[in-house]
Amino acid sequence: MTVFDTTLRDGEQTPGVSFRQDHKFAIATQLSEAGVHAIEAGFPASSPAEFESVKAIASMNLKADVCGLARMLKGDVDACLDAGVDLVHVFIPTSEIQRVHTIRKSPEEVVATTREIVGYVRGHRDKCMFSAMDATRTELPFLIEVSRAAAEAGATIVNVPDTVGVFTPTKMLDLIGALVPEVPAPLDVHCHNDFGLAVANTVAAVEAGASQVQVTVNGIGERAGNADIAQTVMILEAIYGISTGIETPRLVETSRLVSRYSGIAIPPNTPIVGDNAFSHESGIHSHGVLANAATFEPGIMTPEMVGHRRRLTLGKHVGRHAVRQMLADVHLDPSDAELDRVIEKIKAIANRGKRVTDADLYEIAETVLGLEGVQKRVDVRDIAIMTGTHTIPTASVRAVVDGAERVAACTGNGPVDAAIRAIGKIVPLPVTLKEYGIEAISGGSDAIAHVTIAVEDERGRIFDASSSGDDVVLASAEAMVNAINLLSRADKK
Ligand code: MN
Repeated sequence: MTVFDTTLRDGEQTPGVSFRQDHKFAIATQLSEAGVHAIEAGFPASSPAEFESVKAIASMNLKADVCGLARMLKGDVDACLDAGVDLVHVFIPTSEIQRVHTIRKSPEEVVATTREIVGYVRGHRDKCMFSAMDATRTELPFLIEVSRAAAEAGATIVNVPDTVGVFTPTKMLDLIGALVPEVPAPLDVHCHNDFGLAVANTVAAVEAGASQVQVTVNGIGERAGNADIAQTVMILEAIYGISTGIETPRLVETSRLVSRYSGIAIPPNTPIVGDNAFSHESGIHSHGVLANAATFEPGIMTPEMVGHRRRLTLGKHVGRHAVRQMLADVHLDPSDAELDRVIEKIKAIANRGKRVTDADLYEIAETVLGLEGVQKRVDVRDIAIMTGTHTIPTASVRAVVDGAERVAACTGNGPVDAAIRAIGKIVPLPVTLKEYGIEAISGGSDAIAHVTIAVEDERGRIFDASSSGDDVVLASAEAMVNAINLLSRADKK
């Protein structure tokens, strides 16, 4: 079982996505280190810039094979060879609708071209993948004929693309089942997600005997995209018990990396990598999960397995066990009556439609337990920001930390980055910013900014905090300070 990733080729064909070259290097490195077997780096014949990009990735000496895409044209194959790829992926339309309307070739011509070009590739490279484009809408006898011809001409793997995403898992079982005994080469699938079946179809293909899957990170790709790497890999690993060779604890970081570089956000309810994938809010679920995580999680898949974290979130459905546990984490031990009052206040905030963060919980508990006099570790007195079209964003912060006044200044990518870095400089606490989110409450340029952040300490504990205000930079700084104060509180014995 091998995994072929086409984030940098099909994924980059996502409307509106264009990866910078340094981001392509970072994605290729990440995928290779995560254990992906082959990375489709691009389509070298499509433009001189694409050629240079594929060539640069091919020269990175990655553990993964680097693949280049080519039409059934010697020129396209030569571009792949010149770019130095390990594996040439040649494709040709095989369905009647695509043959007639795109290449205008008869089935006989398609078979002859396939034999010639696959043979040409194999004369220069050890590895060649053949794709019968629109395979799932190709008449089965012809698909068998052309796939067999490709294998006989030396294709080392034969891909079966569901190019327009119209297949179903049961049809895929039948199709791959029919091809396996007829085609003398390993089979691979490339499924599109037009009806939301890309992952299901991919898994069905494996069940029927395919030995490679094509995926993209976050399922990006043409139109509705491709099969998602995290979902495909985890279904195969956790449900089917098939080893994919992927280092699954790197799935979440890989997803976030590609989300950042593609500019495509991950919806919170996305399986495996979404923010809510291992989050629990309701009292019954939180109580169960605290006793044994498998009560309300798959169990065969844990957050650790995919590099995620389990999170109990505060909201109107919150329960006593979760709140008591979260307060114990910051060394607070309320009586039953106090706990009731804390929960009442959390629900009141949540019922107004607001998200309740860990920092909010602490503030509430502090009030209920009469601990308001406790001095905060960091008390910001002043923040000044400079930014502009010809100015490097710079922030200076003056704050009282552990009773002593401290001042620090920092530059950053933008004013928010500069302010958060400056705060990091004055607080002698090794924390890293794990998440930063901002939303505008109400429309307009005078909207209130609501900033939510999560910070992680050396021990891997994560706390979230938020702040709202009409100044984005100040709200961000305040959220950071709230999180640091919460972490310091958790450190106290
Ligand atoms: Mn595709």
